[in-house]
Amino acid sequence: MSSELQLIHSEILQCTKCELHKSRKNAVPGEGPYDARIMFVGEGPGQNEDEQGRPFVGAAGKFLTELLESIGLKRSDVFITNIVKCRPPNNRAPRKSEIEACNPYLQSQIRLINPRIVCALGTPAITTLMGDEYSASRFHGKPFTKGEVTFLPMYHPAAALYDASLKETIFHDFQILKKLSENEEALHPDAPKSVESSEKKQTLEKWV
Ligand code: URA
Ligand code: SF4
Repeated sequence: MSSELQLIHSEILQCTKCELHKSRKNAVPGEGPYDARIMFVGEGPGQNEDEQGRPFVGAAGKFLTELLESIGLKRSDVFITNIVKCRPPNNRAPRKSEIEACNPYLQSQIRLINPRIVCALGTPAITTLMGDEYSASRFHGKPFTKGEVTFLPMYHPAAALYDASLKETIFHDFQILKKLSENEEALHPDAPKSVESSEKKQTLEKWV
């Protein structure tokens, strides 16, 4: 892992910037290759994630793994994180103040990992990354490019898991992800993934 990313992850593990630190067992920074081309952003850790300190390890995580496999990807191919890194008590929705307190970590992760595609899972992740006017129901499967990054809003796998029509929709949206990532490869077959950090900073400034 890049040392800067490692530093941010160790800050997250000790963070007390919002109330959520009080009830967490473990903060969940996220995991995956430091140079992943595809990143997934969920809402926040649940009970299993809080206990293990890892993202998407419960039922929703199992389903996310299945969705990835449906397009020929492994969990270890992608970077997975959340908009808040600590579990909201009783799995309540994270508050705006908590999302805002935690957002600099997410923005730093995106800047350092510098993915080509960021999949926002569920409306809280979608509004945090793209703006309040976006939602899963209206924008799922519709990619939106800002600078070098393409955002792909999707339903949250936990919502899709128990609803047959949403399940079909999310499998379909993963096919869109597959096409997007193939186009990305076709456009930049040998593109070196790593760029100087000053370049990465400029990239970020284009869309924050
Ligand atoms: N749901 C999320 O949004 N994130 C996780 O890490 C697990 C379940
Ligand atoms: Fe810090 Fe984010 Fe955890 Fe709040 S949710 S304590 S801001 S790491």
